[in-house]
Amino acid sequence: MSKLRARKRFGQNFLTDSMFIDKIIAALRIAADDHVIEVGPGYGALTGLLLSSGARLDAIEIDRDLAAVLAERFAAQERFTLHVQDALQFDLATIATAAGHTLRIVGNLPYNISTPLLFHFLQQRQYIRDMHFMLQSEVVDRIVAKPDSKAYGRLSVMLQYYFNTERLFKVPAAAFQPAPKVVSAVLRLAPRERSQAEAVVFDDLEQLLRAAFQQRRKTIKNNLRSLFDENDLQRLDIDPRARPENLHMPQFIRLAQALQEQQ
Ligand code: SAM
Repeated sequence: MSKLRARKRFGQNFLTDSMFIDKIIAALRIAADDHVIEVGPGYGALTGLLLSSGARLDAIEIDRDLAAVLAERFAAQERFTLHVQDALQFDLATIATAAGHTLRIVGNLPYNISTPLLFHFLQQRQYIRDMHFMLQSEVVDRIVAKPDSKAYGRLSVMLQYYFNTERLFKVPAAAFQPAPKVVSAVLRLAPRERSQAEAVVFDDLEQLLRAAFQQRRKTIKNNLRSLFDENDLQRLDIDPRARPENLHMPQFIRLAQALQEQQ
């Protein structure tokens, strides 16, 4: 393929290796009655194949020049809608879904905004059936990390509270043009069933995790000093001397619920 023009500020690394493109499409198992949102379609490496599955597709692309290429390439397809917009500002409620349908989000994300984008969609999860994203491999490791590991942190707990997280496969830098400096991986996120007993307020969980992981090498008692004292922690059956990465999901849930009770 001839050299593709890429804008650094939009995190553009285009997938050009057809083996990996096919592998991603196979992992998605798109059905003809699915409604897909593609974030950052670029030149359309995935877009054409997504459309050929028969699904409805709304694509969100910020780069006007690329949008012009996409519009020309896919204009004839009536199941295709292009939104020339910043995905970070995109409101999924504006997409008209067929009754009872939820959206399948797909994207080879610009790495510079991948975490804010994940949080943006996390807050709109009621519209989402599942999400598949290409991310920096190291970020995927953090998202799927289990307690007692170095990679386990705020991102792991926040996303694992709301979703089942699954690392699918690695994608080498050579599969892109231009090649990024890092290895990538594909992540699957599917909303997780939660019981009423596990309910927390989003803002409480966020505030709690920010505090809990502010200094990984300090104890949980130290990090949560402004929110709980030692007696509170003991009452919640949390060892004040534990490090944040030693706490499991039920403990974070108890803490977030206790935070809400304080208000
Ligand atoms: N999907 C294409 C591919 O695999 O070849 C392109 C992937 S490239 C890593 C990221 C794409 O996201 C680019 O097309 C870029 O212009 C677009 N993009 C960057 N920031 C964006 C934003 N805030 N909203 C929507 N699209 C964005």
